[in-house]
Amino acid sequence: MSYYSIAIDGPVAAGKTTQAKALASRLGFVYVDTGAMYRAFAVHKLWLEKEIGEEIEVERALRTFDLDIVQDENGQHILIWGKDVTSQLRTPEVSMVASKASAHSAVREALLKIQQVMPSMNNVVMEGRDIGTVVIPNATLKVFLTAKAEVRAQRRWKEQCSHGVTDSYEQTLALLQKRDYDDSHREIAPLEQAEDAVLVDCTEMTIQETTNVILALWNSKAKRGGMN
Ligand code: C5P
Repeated sequence: MSYYSIAIDGPVAAGKTTQAKALASRLGFVYVDTGAMYRAFAVHKLWLEKEIGEEIEVERALRTFDLDIVQDENGQHILIWGKDVTSQLRTPEVSMVASKASAHSAVREALLKIQQVMPSMNNVVMEGRDIGTVVIPNATLKVFLTAKAEVRAQRRWKEQCSHGVTDSYEQTLALLQKRDYDDSHREIAPLEQAEDAVLVDCTEMTIQETTNVILALWNSKAKRGGMN
């Protein structure tokens, strides 16, 4: 039996998580956030470094990385060594360490194996940077979601403020641009639009409008019988 999949790729804070969750809930698909897996690795590496008292190489951190992904009615939970770290994943420090670690082939290979199991067992909406290009190259629908950097930084900054992060808007914009640059220029699985992905620029769209655009793409795919 084959399953349906929607791949949503795009730069930092384009709204991938919001859209992927909304689509998964509308279509009854499993929502998978692959960025959270890279973030989990970053949390694990930072824990180890704190314990040891010095910076360590990613290969060494990878040897003791024990990741579990649990789905429940509240969505995806990330566990490291059985401890739920979902609420610790979204700090600016974790973002930067995750982005740096994601350029290493050993890290990508380890996470790719986990990521590719999910669409082979469920209908999924999966978000990340390389979903349409590497993780699910035969995804039923591929969307490359983007928006102007200033608009994305504004959204991310507001979200961070509500979580008590004290970075300024300018710092948030600078970090976002650095991460986008690094993600798009790494050698392995860089952030790029798959040839058969549909570009959705949500700079001028509300969340609901963006969801409607992607749902319309999905419905037209279904009508044309283009389901893989
Ligand atoms: O999407 P999110 O911002 O949570 O991802 C954190 C980091 O993980 C990204 O900046 C990127 O470097 C990395 N990532 C990746 N490939 C994915 C998902 C995320 O390289 N599929």
